[in-house]
Amino acid sequence: MVASIYSPNEESKSIWVCLEIAQGTLTPVSLELLSKGRELADEAGWPLVGLLLGNQVASLSGEVYTYGADEVWMVNHPLLQHFTIEAYSQAVYTAILLGRPSIVLFGATPNSRDLAGRLAVRLKTGLNADCTNLRIDPDRGVLISEVTGFGGGILAYLEVPQHRPQMATVRPGVFTIGKSMDFKIGTPLEIQVELTQEMIKTEILERVIGETIDLTQAEILICGGRGVAGDFKILQELAALLEGEVGATRPPVDEGHIERERQIGQTGVIGHPKLAIACGISGAFHFIVGIQDADTVIAINSDPEAPIFEYADYCVVGDVFRIVPALIQALKDGRGKANV
Ligand SMILES: Cc1cc2nc3c(=O)[nH]c(=O)nc-3n(C[C@H](O)[C@H](O)[C@H](O)COP(=O)(O)OP(=O)(O)OC[C@H]3O[C@@H](n4cnc5c(N)ncnc54)[C@H](O)[C@@H]3O)c2cc1C
Repeated sequence: MVASIYSPNEESKSIWVCLEIAQGTLTPVSLELLSKGRELADEAGWPLVGLLLGNQVASLSGEVYTYGADEVWMVNHPLLQHFTIEAYSQAVYTAILLGRPSIVLFGATPNSRDLAGRLAVRLKTGLNADCTNLRIDPDRGVLISEVTGFGGGILAYLEVPQHRPQMATVRPGVFTIGKSMDFKIGTPLEIQVELTQEMIKTEILERVIGETIDLTQAEILICGGRGVAGDFKILQELAALLEGEVGATRPPVDEGHIERERQIGQTGVIGHPKLAIACGISGAFHFIVGIQDADTVIAINSDPEAPIFEYADYCVVGDVFRIVPALIQALKDGRGKANV
């Protein structure tokens, strides 16, 4: 077995969260990981460290403390203004070798997935990717990562007991953002990292920031499945009336009826809505994962035997093309809004 660059005996007992910034603010998944990291750190009795990377990002450190970090480590560099894998991996690698954390958590976003994978190779350690939960064994100081396997049919628990750091990526929306502790303050520790333009092989030709849809934060999700036959107009109308967002199962996404960012489920978005309305959805495990934290689930399906009804709080057996327009009409008439 190949040894990691530093061993469990050489670790500084601490949990790190590698934070992401988008449009000048910390991303929701960064706050989710700080909240979960706080919980794990309390269980282990270790400090929680937020790692901030960017160009002049000191102003964000206050928020990192208030969401649970005991320490903030920061790398400020003009070459970290925009994400490039070469600059970011060099900066995080340097910080990790300096701090020797036991655990490092990343959001399973496109950039951080790329970053965590590259770091795992450089640090000669393991990476538990796309985790659906995290636990810690405080006696052994070992992170236990829950992942789904074989298309969601089984849950597996992974440990990397002999390598450091123990690293995991977690998808946005898996954990909830805890309360901010406004009283918490501190002074970030600034780390110097040598970065030169020659180290960066990536050339950014253009940055296009599309309209972002963040369904992880939606309070009301109106989800459509194959049963809506690609007609998302009525669901959009219902969502607009309820001030919610439209989501979908994988088939309508694959068939091009709706954007991929709106796919709910194991390989899509995991939401925490107050209300989810599932329209023409059978209730496959892969989809249910995405709404299982909803406070209330209403399912509309023409098949009384549809598995979705096992998960729903309210079951409506009927044709979506009759039920949804009737619901829209009732809302327009002002009937039932207070009850929805
Ligand atoms: C590795 C892997 C990952 C996956 N990840 C995801 C994921 O992230 N998200 C996801 O959604 N899926 C995912 N899937 C696919 C998943 O297994 C299911 O195939 C999918 O969720 C089924 O979508 P559906 O319920 O829309 O379609 P179906 O299973 O075909 O169900 C359609 C339902 O609509 C009902 N219906 C039909 N007409 C009407 C009508 N007029 N009125 C009312 N009801 C009607 C039917 O009774 C039926 O129950 C994944 C699969 C794999 C293998």
